[in-house]
Amino acid sequence: GSFEVNLKKLLDENISPEGQELINVVGKWASQLGMRVFLVGGIVRDLLLGHKQKDLDIVVEGDALVLAQEVGKTLSAIKFIPHERFKTASIILKNGQKIDFSTSRVEFYQHPAALPEVEVSTIREDLYRRDFTINSMAIEITYGHTGELFDPFGGLLDLREGIIRVLHNLSFVEDPTRILRALRFLGRFNFKLEENTEKLLVDAIAGGFLHLVSPARILYELKLIFAEKDILKILKFLKHYGVFQEVFPKAFYEEDYLRRYFNYTVEYFRLLKETNIPWLHGVMGVYAKNLEGIEEFIKKYPLTGEEEEVLRQGALGIKEALKLLSLPREVKGVEIFETLTKLPPEGYWALYLLLDRFRARERFKTYFEELRFIKPEITGEDLKALGLKPGPLYREILHKIKMLKIDGVLKNKDEEILYVKQNYF
Ligand code: ATP
Repeated sequence: GSFEVNLKKLLDENISPEGQELINVVGKWASQLGMRVFLVGGIVRDLLLGHKQKDLDIVVEGDALVLAQEVGKTLSAIKFIPHERFKTASIILKNGQKIDFSTSRVEFYQHPAALPEVEVSTIREDLYRRDFTINSMAIEITYGHTGELFDPFGGLLDLREGIIRVLHNLSFVEDPTRILRALRFLGRFNFKLEENTEKLLVDAIAGGFLHLVSPARILYELKLIFAEKDILKILKFLKHYGVFQEVFPKAFYEEDYLRRYFNYTVEYFRLLKETNIPWLHGVMGVYAKNLEGIEEFIKKYPLTGEEEEVLRQGALGIKEALKLLSLPREVKGVEIFETLTKLPPEGYWALYLLLDRFRARERFKTYFEELRFIKPEITGEDLKALGLKPGPLYREILHKIKMLKIDGVLKNKDEEILYVKQNYF
């Protein structure tokens, strides 16, 4: 049953003034239209944990399209986006904020891991189709009932005790991505799996249900994992429950390396900041100890051309860099530059941690701190002024000068100009 808890104070303290104004308008319209309306899911959980909140997720017992439209008018929303088929609607406010409304619904699974069929229902049923008890609470915001917690499955108690619990025994079978969600929440909140839930999770994994999920959906979950704060902890759970190999085929799990990799040192964040596609930085770490394996990852998941390229170049770049940077002989700046310039930044940290010699790491640092920023001082304009005809030769000259600067042969603009005069006239 429901708890006698009123969360008005929590809402007041943790939701921005604009959010509260919005809740107010939504609640009044719902009441006027004879509907009940609720905040649901992650926001309720996070409010109860005392975390500041992100997006409002609104569920309506009634037609969400009608409510969203009225709210949109009142708040002069700049956009109203209805989805008739799913009975959901979004509005976009003047400040750019997007609010999603959905009609409470129940889902039917025709077979395991299928996409569900959807039908309108009560809030209780809407909560029952969700993943875990801690995500299956609602806070009513209908005018006159604001702040009333609706918690039919004991989510609040589980939240207090730090327990991840499914709502029914078929949960992981219906939607095996919940296996990954469970492990992600375990890691994020430092919670435990409730005993029966753990058994169901282990059985679902043993039953191979994760194989039934499309790679695209697994990939979506992996990206969420790599956006978490404590990635190592989640990877440890993946390993512990035997799904690490499944989601990262051919990756070699070496905990010491992974611990150092996801250790959030200053260097980690510095190198992470360099990346264009941060989640691939995570993938590079997972595959660092078996770079060949990355081809299996590329084969398994629907990646964009760019993502594929970064991973492939990353693996290749690390291999080449490892060889060069570890050479016992003197290595020239130009050699370092030419090899490392091919390595995407997503691979920097993986490479750095694979270098076990002081000298190799120093070479990497030289590239990272200095070499990659070196540019000729003269420009195309200068070459033109010298009387050279614009063309492909410009690039060649500027590249050559850059290499000579990296080598320390040319030290300033005068020397660069002199070099051009002596060699290209
Ligand atoms: P996060 O803080 O990671 O965003 P969240 O709980 O808000 O966590 P969302 O993915 O935004 O996660 O999902 C919102 C809500 O939808 C969840 O709280 C849960 O109630 C429900 N939900 C999401 N994914 C599933 C799923 N695979 N099966 C059942 N319910 C789900």
